[in-house]
Amino acid sequence: MSDIQKLARKTVQALTPYLSARRIGGKGNVWLNANEAPDCNEYQLDCHQLNRYPEFQPPELINAYADYASVNNTQVLCTRGADESIEILIRTFCEPGDDSILICPPTYGMYSISAETCGVEVREVALQANFDVDYLAVEQAVNAPNSNIKIVFLCAPNNPTGNMLDTQKLIALLKATQGKALIVADEAYIEFCPEFSQVNLIAQHENLVITRTLSKAFALASIRCGFTLAQASVIEMLSKVIAPYPVPAPIAQIATQALSTSGLSIMLERVKILNNNRRLLQNELANIDCITEIFPATGNYVLARFKDSAQVFSAFANDGIVMRDFANKPRLENCIRITIGTEAEMQATLTTLKSL
Ligand SMILES: *Cc1c(COP(=O)(O)O)cnc(C)c1O
Repeated sequence: MSDIQKLARKTVQALTPYLSARRIGGKGNVWLNANEAPDCNEYQLDCHQLNRYPEFQPPELINAYADYASVNNTQVLCTRGADESIEILIRTFCEPGDDSILICPPTYGMYSISAETCGVEVREVALQANFDVDYLAVEQAVNAPNSNIKIVFLCAPNNPTGNMLDTQKLIALLKATQGKALIVADEAYIEFCPEFSQVNLIAQHENLVITRTLSKAFALASIRCGFTLAQASVIEMLSKVIAPYPVPAPIAQIATQALSTSGLSIMLERVKILNNNRRLLQNELANIDCITEIFPATGNYVLARFKDSAQVFSAFANDGIVMRDFANKPRLENCIRITIGTEAEMQATLTTLKSL
């Protein structure tokens, strides 16, 4: 170990960093590995006052998101992507070395990475056989004697399996864990199935937190803009911990345009197209021989299990199609996640699969 490695915190020495799609990289011209939108809009930037610090939480942006999400503007915090929201939640509510978070794998990887970098322990309650949340086991873990679980991260649509939450069971869990733990519903993909949002529960449940992002359906992954929705009491605590100027002014300008009436209608049109492309792909996947299982797709991605995913993955790579490999994740053996792209990209995907 080098001197510098020895100088770092022990948790950081031991840490395996999150391998984002961009860090893994790939070669090709069809990018279906990061659940990004396939199209890009244009935005206007006003660069006249870049010498000034931005507003802590730009009111125009916060009001626009509050309107869009049907919450009060005191119930919104803007962050550097939903990923920063995850980290701020942990840093605000979990005592390093004492408290823990609970995750339900297989699920999104950043919950555990953020906890580890904060010195917060990660507990697990596995998803059930059908990949739905095991609500009773979660409740028992939180309410166990000496439990130190402060935050439960649930992801819906779950990345990568696509499962949704059961609203009645979520309400029961919120009531049973009130005053003990926050229940976070990660709704990064909720625009693709807005009827499943749990946002209406915020008014009744102080321990519910919802995380959102502009990275997926809004086609703005590059600007790193996310939102946390919760009662004002939670938002106030998070505001003590977040950086002093967390929203760069150019980002606020772009995000506000994306949330304008015309911006929202572009997003809704994109969702319609991508959901349609997903149905086309799903229908065709059902007839493909090398596939053994198709998961319930609800976001802009489909997880599929193959007879031999390594062979499929390299066939895609040979054809310049970059996918996300989940084959070495527990319970996702031979699974590949396919982002929904343009119709042409879906056709290219099917052409490769049919050639096998
Ligand atoms: C993409 C993703 C995020 C991160 O979103 P950013 O706003 O880009 O940080 C969070 N949660 C899930 C489930 C995601 O898939």
